[in-house]
Amino acid sequence: MSHKALIWIDQNECMGAGTCEQIAPKMFRSMGDGLWAVIESPEYFEQPVIFDGGNGPGHGPLGSQGMARVPTELMDLALEVIDECPGECVYVETAV
Ligand code: SF4
Repeated sequence: MSHKALIWIDQNECMGAGTCEQIAPKMFRSMGDGLWAVIESPEYFEQPVIFDGGNGPGHGPLGSQGMARVPTELMDLALEVIDECPGECVYVETAV
């Protein structure tokens, strides 16, 4: 799966409304504690990863350390989440 960008959440600013997952359920998932994390869905990548700070396979770091790859075809949804996130805490960076 091609990707040109990375997406991450500043969890310190997350307000926990879940707007991100409503808009883009293939890029965001609730951590069950009132905060949300970015994910790499198995629909687009070889292995599912949730960037929730957990240990072991399938988990990645949080915050600016936990950047999920954005499938090229989901880029418009990623930009919509940035516009709609009430905490203004979702960021996209160009992948190098
Ligand atoms: S939309 Fe923004 S503030 Fe709301 S849960 Fe997602 S990351 Fe947090």
